[in-house]
Amino acid sequence: MTDAAIHLRPREILKATFGYSEYRLNQEPVIAAIMNGQSVLAVMPTGAGKSLCYQIPALALDGVTIVVSPLVALMRDQVAALQLAGVAAETINSSQDRTQNVAVWKRVAGGETKLLYLSPERLMTAQMLEALRDLPLALLVVDEAHCVSQWGPAFRPEYEELQQLKDLFPEVPVAAFTATADEVTRQDVADKLLGACPKIFVSGFDRPNIQLSVDMKSNWKQQLGAFLKDHDGESGIVYCLSRKKTEEAAAFLNEAGVRCLPYHAGMDAAVRTRNQDAFLTEPGIVMAATIAFGMGIDKPDVRFVFHTDMPGSIEAYYQEIGRAGRDGAAAEARMLYGLDDMRMRRVFIEGEDSTPERKRREHKRLDALIGYCEAPECRRRTLLGYFGEQTEACGNCDTCLNPVSLSDGKLEGQKALSAVLRTGQRFGAAHIIDVLRGQKTEKALNAGHDRLPTFGVGADHDKGAWRSIIRQLVAGDFLALDIQGYGGLKLTGKGRLLLKGEAEFHYRADVVHRATRASKPKQSGVEAELSEGDLDLFQTLKALRLELAQERGVPAFVVFSDKSLQDMAHRKPQSDAEFAEVFGVGKAKLQDFAEPFLKAIAEVAP
Ligand code: ADP
Ligand code: ZN
Repeated sequence: MTDAAIHLRPREILKATFGYSEYRLNQEPVIAAIMNGQSVLAVMPTGAGKSLCYQIPALALDGVTIVVSPLVALMRDQVAALQLAGVAAETINSSQDRTQNVAVWKRVAGGETKLLYLSPERLMTAQMLEALRDLPLALLVVDEAHCVSQWGPAFRPEYEELQQLKDLFPEVPVAAFTATADEVTRQDVADKLLGACPKIFVSGFDRPNIQLSVDMKSNWKQQLGAFLKDHDGESGIVYCLSRKKTEEAAAFLNEAGVRCLPYHAGMDAAVRTRNQDAFLTEPGIVMAATIAFGMGIDKPDVRFVFHTDMPGSIEAYYQEIGRAGRDGAAAEARMLYGLDDMRMRRVFIEGEDSTPERKRREHKRLDALIGYCEAPECRRRTLLGYFGEQTEACGNCDTCLNPVSLSDGKLEGQKALSAVLRTGQRFGAAHIIDVLRGQKTEKALNAGHDRLPTFGVGADHDKGAWRSIIRQLVAGDFLALDIQGYGGLKLTGKGRLLLKGEAEFHYRADVVHRATRASKPKQSGVEAELSEGDLDLFQTLKALRLELAQERGVPAFVVFSDKSLQDMAHRKPQSDAEFAEVFGVGKAKLQDFAEPFLKAIAEVAP
């Protein structure tokens, strides 16, 4: 079924097989280098379209391409998607029985297969290596290539063996792909996997379709509930700090009528896998998860990532939000953040069994993330700036959409610092706020704090405002959190300067998002880009997609991405020729799916 594709050129394959008219940024040079027989390392952000960079050459070159990928579930979905696009792709892995694997091998050996997906341990068996020697190999692809490096964030021992590939098959070019930015890892991956003079491509890290926002944490459940009102029926991930909290979030959302499943490392493995499979295959499921969830989750239509707590570093945050919107359609990432998050993260770092040097580095990485949370200007600029990229204000983050004003906080700062100092630098933010606001709590009365001159000097601000100011004093290093004890606040050197009037402090007014779809000026998500009438059609198409996916036993997004359905609802094709123009419709999908979709469109939008 692929014979026709074999002698097509890359650009023709892009359209004929995958149904796209244009390359994404940076795909073309990578493909050109591979077509030239060069070994390449391509560093591209999640969702940039790495897979096409080797799938297209695999179809354009003679011989079979071997793709090494770490997760069986990932391989399964990739292969299913390719097969629906009419590509002769196969996988041999442990989730299939022996007869199946033998049948696959026969097709590979017979030259029918263009792409063969293998786990690293399966590839590196003596038997497999021996068998591959007799085949015309076009290309060796290593996906998630950072796993080969001890320096990387996700070293996998079974990847280490892959170092031998360049010597075992010196004639065959290697193409390695990763989304990990960091320079040391990158060099290490190139050394280990690629022979002499590799070409290294590094793409920009921007994910412009993901709307970014950070909210001050007040009541996380309420805030999560309000956020989800704007994401009705959409797939998304809710990241929580603890296992217990994922369970709580799931229970809370299910009660609120949102289908939500928990996922964390403490769960029974079978249940965990079942939940993950449901998330991948059924539409509109929300996953409440710890960071255990996500590596290799290749679901393109995740519409939002919500952090109930601050992640551990900017790198982790970037990875986690990167799981949203891989299909390029609008997606949203929101994080809740407060003083407790800062404290918890510091406690974690201190509690790690590592060297002082490493702890210092971790604290610095956390500082960068706190800086991002407090940024008074474009979030994306702050985020990308961290990765060394300069950009203009993005227009698609909370601070761009609702610019924050900075207030002179010298006086407020001095009041808060003075309250901390006069109460003995032992108390946490809650008590300091009570003192500032003149609340005669038992604690205040018992300690005699109601007789302090600072008692009640901050009555003009409410609790939330003070919480925000104190948090910003901590973030700005005027106050330090006692992380050994219970979060008591202490003045820093900088804090003493401010108290004496020798330092400046500006703070931003926090905007807590309360808006829901009805009142929000700018909506997010795929549906926001459709008119009301098209939205109905979009829902119908979604239901049809699910039906067709279930008939074939594949995840819905394998049939069509949200973006394809969105384009379809917008264009309302009435003929095969018009259907072929829809985003993501190649020859095979035209043949398989034009009829049912054209019929549905004619019924809803005659
Ligand atoms: P990643 O870089 O994270 O591996 P993928 O290869 O999974 O990204 O691609 C993400 C999504 O983008 C997929 O749904 C893919 O079909 C789509 N995509 C890739 N290249 C293009 C393109 N040139 N035009 C439109 N969509 C594309
Ligand atoms: Zn912005």
